[in-house]
Amino acid sequence: MTRLIVVSNRVSAPTDAAAPSSGGLAMALRAALQDHGGLWFGWSGETSEHAQSEPPKTRTVGGIQTVTAALTEHELETYYNGYANRTLWPLLHQRLDLMASDRELAKGYLAVNARFAALLAPLIEPDDQVWVHDYHLIPLASELRKLGVTCRIGFFLHTPWPAHQIFRALPEHRARARELLAYDLIGFQTEEWRRAFEDYLARDDAEIAAETGRQPRTGVYPIGIDAEAFAKALETTAAGRAHDRLMASCAFRKVLLGVDRLDYSKGLEDRLRGFEQFLADNPDQHRRVTFVQIANLSREQVESYQQIRARLDALAGHINGAYADFDWSPVRYVNREHRRDHLAGLYRAAHVGLVTPLIDGMNLVAKEYVAAQNPDDPGVLILSRFAGAAEQMKDALLINPYSADELADAIRRALAMPKQERLKRWETLAHGVRTDDVTAWRRSFLKDLSASA
Ligand code: ADP
Repeated sequence: MTRLIVVSNRVSAPTDAAAPSSGGLAMALRAALQDHGGLWFGWSGETSEHAQSEPPKTRTVGGIQTVTAALTEHELETYYNGYANRTLWPLLHQRLDLMASDRELAKGYLAVNARFAALLAPLIEPDDQVWVHDYHLIPLASELRKLGVTCRIGFFLHTPWPAHQIFRALPEHRARARELLAYDLIGFQTEEWRRAFEDYLARDDAEIAAETGRQPRTGVYPIGIDAEAFAKALETTAAGRAHDRLMASCAFRKVLLGVDRLDYSKGLEDRLRGFEQFLADNPDQHRRVTFVQIANLSREQVESYQQIRARLDALAGHINGAYADFDWSPVRYVNREHRRDHLAGLYRAAHVGLVTPLIDGMNLVAKEYVAAQNPDDPGVLILSRFAGAAEQMKDALLINPYSADELADAIRRALAMPKQERLKRWETLAHGVRTDDVTAWRRSFLKDLSASA
C-alpha cells in the first residue's frame, strides 16, 4: 500500500477523548495514517527565534510519526495571523470588509509554504501520496513540484470557495489559483463551493489553464463526524452529568443551544438578534425558554475577533437587561471551551440546536447535535441555508441567518413541533450523519486521489 503524507497547519497528537482538541478530523487523519503508514507534517504550534535553521522534530505518538516545524515570530505574524487568518479566511467567508490586503503578508505566506516544502520534500518517496489540508497551505504543492516531487498530491479545502467577483478581490488571486493547479485532486465540502471554483477558472483563468497545461480533477467530499466515537462520548458519566446539570439549572424550561468558535462567520450576532425578535414576538414564551450559547474564544490576536467579541458581550447583556427577571435570564452566554463528552451531554439536553452561520464550509456542530439526540424524543435542528451542511441536511429547519424574523418564526415552530414530525425529520438526519461519517469522507477522497492521473 502506498504511504500517506498528511500535511496540515497544525499537527494533532492523540489526546484524551475528553479533550476539546481531539476532534473528528484529527481522529480520521490518524486512522488514515494507521491504515496506510506514513507521516503527518505541519507547524508545531510553537515559535522560536531560530526556527529557520532548526531541523524539524520527529516523534512517534500512538504509532503515528509526526514531523513538526516551529515558526519565527515574523512568520507567525505574516503567515498565520496575517495572510491565513486576516486575508484568506475573511475572503473565503465573503467578508471583504475584514480582508487585509498587504504584500508583506502575502510574501510571508509564500515563504513559509516554501520553507515547509523544503523540509518535507526529502521525506517524500516516489510512491507516496500527499494530502494537504486547507487554505494555509495552498502553495505547498507548487513548491514541492519545484523541488522535483512528482508523486500524487491532493488538496482539501475545509472552507467555502467564494463567488467569482469576491475571489478576484484578492490581489494575488491568479497566483493562488495557479498554485492550486499543481494538485492532482482538489476536494471541496459541497457542490456549491466546487462549482464556484470551476466558475472562477472558466471565467478568469483560461490563461492560467493554458499556461500550466493542467486541469486538475475536482471533487465533492462532505466531511462528517466520527459518529461512533461521538456515541461513546455520549454514554460516559461525564456526559450524563453535564446533561443533568443543564436540565436542573433550566428547571421546566426549554433549552435552545448554540456551540461555536467565536468567529464572525458563525452568525452569532444575527442569532442573538433573532432570539431577541422571538422574545419580542412571543411574550407567552418568556420564562419558558433559555438560550445557551457557548462560544469559545479563537484567534484572539486578530482585531476583527476582538471587535466581534465586544459586540457579542454587549448584545447578550442588552437582551438580558431588557427581558431578564430575578429568577430568569433568557441568554446564557459562555466563552469557555468544553470537553467533548460534556458537549455531547449538553446537545442531548437541548430541545433546539441553533446552527446559523452566515457562511460555513460544512459545520460539524449541526451533525454532532443530531448524533446526540434521544432517538425516542429528539430535538429540532435549526440550520442556516448557507452552511455547507445544508446541502446534506435538508430535513433540518433551514433558515436565512440574516433574517431575525425567519429565525424567530423557526424557533417558535421548533418549540411547538409535534413529536411525530420531530422523529421523522431526525431519523433521516441521523441516518445521514451515521452513513456519511468522517471515515467515509477520508476513504472517498483517498480513493479518488489514487485514481487521479
Ligand atoms: P469550525 O471548524 O469553523 O470551528 P465546525 O462546526 O466545523 O466549525 O467544527 C467545530 C468543532 O469544534 C466541533 O467539533 C465542535 O464540537 C467543537 N467546538 C465548538 N465549540 C466548542 C467549545 N466551546 N468547546 C469545545 N469544542 C467546541
